[in-house]
This record gives sequence, structure tokens and C-alpha cells, in this order.
Amino acid sequence: MRISQMLAPTLRETPAEAEVISHKLLLRAGMIRKTTAGVYTYLPLGQRVIKKIIEIVREEMDRAGGQEVGLPIIQPAELWQETGRWAVYGEEMFRLKDRHQRDFCLGPTHEEIITDLVRGEVRSYKQLPLLLYQVQNKYRDERRPRFGLMRGREFIMKDLYSFDVDADGLEISYRKMYDAYCRVFTRCGLRYRAVEADPGAIGGNASHEFMVLAESGEAEVVFCQVCDYAANVEKAECQPQVEPAEVKHLKRERVFTPGVQTVEEVANFFKVSPKQVIKTLFYQADDQVIAVLLRGDRRINETKLKNLVKCLRLELADDATVERVTGAPPGSVGPIGLTGIKVYADLEVPFVIEAIVGANQVNYHWQGITPGVDFSLDVVADLRTMEAGEPCPKCASPVTVARGIEVGHIFKLGTKYSEVLGAKFLNEKGQELPMVMGCYGIGVSRTMAAAVEQNYDQDGIKWPMPIAPFHVIVVPVSTHDAEQMRVAEELYQGLLRSGLEVVVDDRNERAGVKFKDADLIGYPIRVTVGAKALKEGQVEVKKRQTGEQFFVPLPEAVDYIAKLVKEEIQATLSEVLK
Ligand code: ATP
Ligand code: MG
Repeated sequence: MRISQMLAPTLRETPAEAEVISHKLLLRAGMIRKTTAGVYTYLPLGQRVIKKIIEIVREEMDRAGGQEVGLPIIQPAELWQETGRWAVYGEEMFRLKDRHQRDFCLGPTHEEIITDLVRGEVRSYKQLPLLLYQVQNKYRDERRPRFGLMRGREFIMKDLYSFDVDADGLEISYRKMYDAYCRVFTRCGLRYRAVEADPGAIGGNASHEFMVLAESGEAEVVFCQVCDYAANVEKAECQPQVEPAEVKHLKRERVFTPGVQTVEEVANFFKVSPKQVIKTLFYQADDQVIAVLLRGDRRINETKLKNLVKCLRLELADDATVERVTGAPPGSVGPIGLTGIKVYADLEVPFVIEAIVGANQVNYHWQGITPGVDFSLDVVADLRTMEAGEPCPKCASPVTVARGIEVGHIFKLGTKYSEVLGAKFLNEKGQELPMVMGCYGIGVSRTMAAAVEQNYDQDGIKWPMPIAPFHVIVVPVSTHDAEQMRVAEELYQGLLRSGLEVVVDDRNERAGVKFKDADLIGYPIRVTVGAKALKEGQVEVKKRQTGEQFFVPLPEAVDYIAKLVKEEIQATLSEVLK
């Protein structure tokens, strides 16, 4: 490809709407453009990256025994009504009506559609197991579409569904997918971890997430330094950490605390540790308001809370609601004297000695409070988020916490969908049984963004070789120099013949402009044809990842570069063959 012919509109300035690195750089490198909130157009360079990721995903799904299908994006409401998800999927579902006023949705996921297919086509254990997948646009009207490709409303996903005769079969399919996912992300050249995850709304009883490690990740993951334990913080089970408290024999009384609101202010006012302050949060859980108690130094874990309460919607109650149920504004609220409200407390709350709590009266707090005596705890459970340094749930060594981007998610569904939709088969004895299912997703477009979040510097993107839009860019320094142009063209043709993906920057631009664009777009290898080196019969070869430069004699250049490219791709491949 000649850059003079390519639609690759790079931008010098960062568009104001972009918050995260990948969004900024993918826009600036001319790879994507926003069409509307959460909906993007892929330009030629961006589309090439997407195609490469999809190709790796396809190869690994096929290798694991997957068969590719093409499922519809438009899905009839009836199927979703059969599983009950038409009512519970909520506002994330894009719904539409046809001219006869019949209801449809744009597929946010495909459990209903695939199970409907399989219940119609599969009768016997002899036809199982089945692993069916597709790569397609998914539609979710996310509450906060943001960060470019990271959280879109239209995005590309690979989804695979497994159908087995029993739980042992599912275990094998799940393991196959787990391994295939490891291979996919290794082959994309990404640093990732598989972590235990909360199965969430899709249901089922086991799941793992694949996280690309990056500072900007929305998810927090917990790793053990010693054993192999790794989990999403949403899932990591916390033990109560109880240290001997300093008992001051504080009198149980209501204290005037003017302007004191946050945990920190309360702790300072009473000269106690935040561990002695109990904070009270109010949540709207479907149509109920509930109170949640937590030690002052802890963070709530809304996933655990939601699973415990078993509600569909959970959000912090607004100030007006808090005032209505407590009689006080947030900042002075507490658990004493609450009526008609269920109180959920974290496991550590009963251990707090001489607790400080809000008094449900502006500018007042109680001191010297005993949980369970001065107020009741309806449910005591693990409701908090694990912190770095806490003991590993498996081996008790201290854990570390890192940030990650969820690029893949695998679930054991069991018979949740096959039961309700009647996807049954006859076993060897002629008994009719529901198929045992699993589902497995990879966010293809999110993987592209995650790759950028993990591979960039101040100048632009540093694509890992296997998913780079092109392997090599050839840059003649001066377009007016006939000899440079001739050598550049020769190299370009030679590299193409050796099977590489190459562009040549034949634009009549200053060298500085070409170099800036090359760095921004992030071609893994740049070959510069300049007057000085050429005099000595050499060209300059520069690696974008490491910044290493080599001067290579012209006759050897093509073989040298081809070797560099193949070695880098081979490195990711041999990693997965180990
Ligand atoms: P999240 O918690 O980030 O909303 P999810 O649990 O809803 O993700 P799944 O339903 O498991 O996601 O979808 C499978 C994969 O699809 C995810 O692991 C992620 O990589 C990708 N994905 C999900 N939602 C989006 C989105 N809005 N934009 C881009 N990719 C997405
Ligand atoms: Mg989601």
C-alpha cells in the first residue's frame, strides 16, 4: 500500500471527547471515527487490526473444535420471553418493532438464539458435544458508553456456546475454551491474566475473566504472590480482619459534631481510627431501600451486595430518599432507630468496639456504640472489596491488587437455558435430558483498545507484531531524491514478495511529518531510506517497541526485515505451543 493512496487521516491534536489513551490514539492515528455515542466507524488501518484479531480468534476456536455459524442480529421477543429475559434485561437492550408492531431486539448476546437452533436440530447424545461460535456485532445500550472502543453500544464480539451431555462434558469444553483463550491473548502479543469472576446476570456457577493488565483498566484484580489464586475483586472472598482495638471506654452518648461528615472527619473529630467508624450506605434495590453497614476504612462491593439481595437493579439511594428514611441528610446517617429498613452488615461490623455512627440528626453522631446491641443487624455477610496486602483466600499469603481490562469472559451455564427452552437429547438409555451448556465471549473491539492501553508511548501506538495493521513502513527521507525513491520502491516490492504487509510513505512531506505519523500509527518496523546511510549502501531499520536501530546493508535488508517480523510472530506462537 502506498500512503499517498491510503485513507489514514492522522490528527496532530487530541480530540477533546477522548478520555483514555486508546481512544485518543486510535482517533489520532486515523483508525476509528465516532459516528454517534458508543458507535464507531473503522477506517482501513483500524479494520486491518480488527481482522487480524478475528483471524487469531477464528484459528483458535477452530483448533479447539469450534464450528462457525452466522446467527441473526435481529431477534424476536418471543424467544426472550421464553427465558424470561425480555423482562429482566432492562434498558441495556435495544428494542424495536416491525411494521406489524411485533417486538424485536438487536442481539446483546445469543443464548436464546443458539439454544433455539440446537433444540431444533439435535436429538441424540451422538450429536454432542457441540461447540458453535460466531464473530459479530453486538448491541447494548450501555448506561455510560465511553472510552472509545472500550465500552461501545455497538461492538464486535466472538461468542461461542458449548452443548454437552453432562457436567463432565462441560468441564472438558470449558477447559478447552480456557486454553484457547490463553492462546488467543498470547498470540495477540498481550500481557493478560485469567481470573475467577462473578458469574453475574447470565447465571451459572463458574466463570473466569481474561484481563489485559493495564493501569487504565476498569476492573481490579487480586493476585496471590505465592499460589495461583487470581480473582476479580468483585469475586474475591474477604475474611474479617480483626485487630485488637484501643478501648477508650467512651461513654455511649450522642455528640454534637458540627460540620463533621466524611469518615475521615468523623475519625479525626473523635480521635479514633476509621476502623472504629461504621459507615451507613443506603441503596435502592429494585423497589426497596436497604441499609448497608461497613467499617469506615472499607469499600463496598456492589456485586456481592447485589448477589446477596438478589435484586435486578441496585443503585445508591439519592439524597432525598436517604432523608426520607432517616430524617437526616447523608453525612449524619446511621443504623440506630431505623425502622422498616433491612440492615445488611459486612462481616467485620460485629467486631467493631466502641463504634461511632451517624445519629440520623444533622450534626450529631453516636459514640461508644456496640453493633448488635445498640442496633440490629438483619444480615451479616461478606460485602466489602478486598485490599492489597490482605491474606489470599487460598494460601493466606498477602495479595496484590492490579488493574485490568476484561477482554474475555467464560461461563459454565449448566442447564439454565436448556431447561427453560427445552434443549433436550436422548442419552444411550433413551432417557431425555437437558443439554449442559457453557458460553464464552471475547470482546474483539475491546481487545484492540486494550492492546493500545498496554502498548504506547508519548509518540503513539506500539502494536504487537501479530495484530499490527502492517508489519513494516518504508520511509524515503526525501521524495525529491530519485535514488532514495528508487531504493524505497525496490525495498517495498522486495518485502511484499517475501510475504510481509508493507506500506511505503511516498508522500511529498517533510521527513519529520512522516516519522511522526509512523510512530503515531505504530508500525512495528520502520525502514528509513536516507541520503547518509545510502552513501554507505545501508538503510536504517528501527523497532517501534524497543526503539532499537540497526544499519543494514541494502542487499541484505529484505531478508533481515523478514526475519525480524517472522521471529516476533513465531515468538508468540511458540509460547502457545509450549
Ligand atoms: P462488562 O462487565 O465490561 O460490561 P460484560 O460482563 O457485560 O462486560 P460479557 O457479556 O461477558 O461482558 O461479554 C463478553 C465480552 O464482550 C466481554 O468480556 C468484553 O470483552 C466484551 N464487551 C462487553 N460489553 C462491551 C462493550 N459495551 N463494548 C465493548 N466490548 C464489550
Ligand atoms: Mg456489561
